Amino acid sequence: MTNVSDIGVIDIHVHVQPWHMMHPHILALMKRGRENWDTLDNVMNDPGVLLRTMDDAGIDTVGVINYVAPQLMGFTFECNRFAYEYVKNHRDRLFAHGSIDPVGSTDPDGEITQILDEWGMRAVKVHPPHQGVAPNAYLDGNTILPKLYDACQTRGVPVVFHTGTTIFKGARIKYGDPIHLDDVACDFPDLKIILAHSGRPLWVPTARFLARRHPNVYLDLSGIPPHRIPEYFPDIERFAGKLMWGTDWPGPGVPSMDGNLTAFVKQGHDEYVLRRVLRENAVRVFGL
Ligand SMILES: [Zn+2]
Repeated sequence: MTNVSDIGVIDIHVHVQPWHMMHPHILALMKRGRENWDTLDNVMNDPGVLLRTMDDAGIDTVGVINYVAPQLMGFTFECNRFAYEYVKNHRDRLFAHGSIDPVGSTDPDGEITQILDEWGMRAVKVHPPHQGVAPNAYLDGNTILPKLYDACQTRGVPVVFHTGTTIFKGARIKYGDPIHLDDVACDFPDLKIILAHSGRPLWVPTARFLARRHPNVYLDLSGIPPHRIPEYFPDIERFAGKLMWGTDWPGPGVPSMDGNLTAFVKQGHDEYVLRRVLRENAVRVFGL
């Protein structure tokens, strides 16, 4: 069996977030069923703890995800400053995804410059169900999203979209349908688009279709229970150039980074599939 520590695994989807900003009822949901809460709290406050967790799990690099969703989650634009500070002395092993509020931002140009040019974020996260907006809302008059997409397209920065369901109260699940991203892929043909969670569980066929149709659409495996991966991707070799590894840890239902990784590797995928999915695609798409 392949030894993962030889591969230099990149987990592109880890939620290291300023938990002090979260609404209390959201925090309660995050805490539910977790025995190691103090350890997780330490991860959020100290990148050194995360790096040690990565070492133990045989993970080389992690993408730290934050997104602005003041109403639903409590995260304001300040979550970007948190992410910037968190990764800044560890850029060899950590990279940050930045975010702006695609509905409520009053200074999209300034915020885009701040996250991409001043703070050097390697990716942008858009969470349509939590931000209450369709990814193609520019067709109905949203002026913030096209500025963001243009800026990312010009700079070669990928945009990661949450696709699929979410358990948080008040989320608008319909915006998790990846079909809206067909418009974005057509209208911004050089924008690198990553469909986080591959549309699971409702829209995996749509996500698979879009990744095959558009050269600029990629998928990640985060938030998919590992035993479901062979069910969603029985032909995983066909997606070897399109799929990226991620866990969504410590989101609800993901106990650890290494648990998911070990379960995936044990499924016995070909070595070239593992190398691409666990590392090489992310190096290429994020320009690491
Ligand atoms: Zn996530």
